[in-house]
Amino acid sequence: MKVLVLGAGQLARMMALAGAPLNISISAYDVNSDSIVHPLTQQNLGKGLANAIADADVVTAEFEHIPLPVLAQCQQSGKFLPGETAIKAGGDRRLEKTLLDDAKVRSAAYRIVNSEADFRQAITALGLPLVFKSALAGYDGKGQWRLKRAEDATALWQQLDAFLSADPSQSIVAEQFIPFSREVSLIGARNSQGEVQVYPLTENHHVNGVLSVSLAVAGNEQLQQQAQQMFTAVANQLNYVGVLAIEFFDVNGTLLVNEIAPRVHNSGHWTQQGADVCQFEQHLRAVCGLPLGSTALVRPSLMVNILGEDKVPEQILTLPGLHLHWYGKTKRAGRKMGHINLSGATTAELKTRFEQLISVLPEAAFPELTQMAARLN
Ligand code: ATP
Ligand code: MG
Ligand code: MG
Repeated sequence: MKVLVLGAGQLARMMALAGAPLNISISAYDVNSDSIVHPLTQQNLGKGLANAIADADVVTAEFEHIPLPVLAQCQQSGKFLPGETAIKAGGDRRLEKTLLDDAKVRSAAYRIVNSEADFRQAITALGLPLVFKSALAGYDGKGQWRLKRAEDATALWQQLDAFLSADPSQSIVAEQFIPFSREVSLIGARNSQGEVQVYPLTENHHVNGVLSVSLAVAGNEQLQQQAQQMFTAVANQLNYVGVLAIEFFDVNGTLLVNEIAPRVHNSGHWTQQGADVCQFEQHLRAVCGLPLGSTALVRPSLMVNILGEDKVPEQILTLPGLHLHWYGKTKRAGRKMGHINLSGATTAELKTRFEQLISVLPEAAFPELTQMAARLN
C-alpha cells in the first residue's frame, strides 16, 4: 500500500518507520514548500500534489493546520482519511467546540469573540479567570492569552482587537480557566467498521505550554471508562477513521476535553516501546483497512521530549528499557528534536530508571523532571 501523508515532520517519519514491516510505503507532502519529500531523508522529490494523490492508495495527515484548498483537493480524491471535516475540526477551535457540543462531551464553557461586545459579554457570562485562544493556527500554547483581573480587560482587548483586525479569518475562543488537578490524554483508533481501540490514559506534563513528559502506567479504571466513552462519542460524531488523540483536564476525577488532535500525537510516542502495537502502525492499519492491533500496555513507560537540543549524553543508551528517537531536524530553540522512551517491568523499576536518566540529563535542557518522577508511585 502507498500512503501519502500531508505534512513532512517527525510524525510522517515515524509512520514511515512503522509502515515498512507491513509493506506500507509513505510519501510526505511538505505544505510549506508545496513539495513531496522523502519522510526519512527529507529529500525534495519535487512538486506535484495532484500526481502524488493519484499515485497513493490512501491520503492522510500528520497535522491539522493545512491550507483549505489542499484539504478540498484531497477530499475530492475519495482517499482521504480521517478526511476534511475531522482535520478542520482539529485546526479551528470554533469547529472543535461545535463538534464537542454535538457529541455531548464536556469541555470548558466558552464564547466566540469577534468584537469588543462579544469580549465583554464573555467576561460577564463566564467569569474570571479566562483563557483566550486564537481559533486558527494555535499549537504549543501559542496564540493564547490569560485574563485574571477585571482591571486588565481593556489592555487585553486592545491586543485581541489588533490580532483580530490583522486576519479576518480569525476569531478568539474565550474559555473558562479550568483548575485541573492534572492533564491526561487518550490516544485511540477507529476503523471504517466503527470499531474503537484505545490505549491506556497518558498523564502529560507541560513546561511553558509545550509537552515535556508523558507517563503511561496502569491506570484508574473509572477514569479510563470516562475517557473512552468521550473518545467514542467524538470519533463516532466524525465517522472517524484513523488514530485520534483527545487531551483532557482531570478535575478531581471528572474529565473535560481540552482539545482534540485528528492524528497521531506526541503524548502517544511511548506506545513505540510500551504498547503491543504503536500508534503509528495503528493509524496506518486503520486508514489502510487492515485489522486494528492490540493497544495493551506491555510495560509501564514514559516519554521525555528533547526540545531545542541535538545531543544528549551517549551514556543514556546504556540504560535498559531506553530508546532514543531523533527526528533528523536542524536545531532551533525550543524545537521538538527527538524523544526518549523509557520502560520498566514495573512502575517501581521505571521510576528507578527514570531517576538514573535524570541524573545524566542536563537540568537546564530538561527542567522539572524530578517533579515528574515523583508522580511514579
Ligand atoms: P498543543 O501543542 O497541545 O496543540 P495548544 O497550543 O493547542 O497546544 P492547548 O492544549 O489548548 O494549546 O493549551 C495549552 C495548555 O494550556 C494546556 O495543555 C493547559 O496546560 C493550558 N490550558 C489551555 N486551556 C486551558 C483552560 N481552559 N484552563 C486551564 N488551562 C488551560
Ligand atoms: Mg492544540
Ligand atoms: Mg494541547
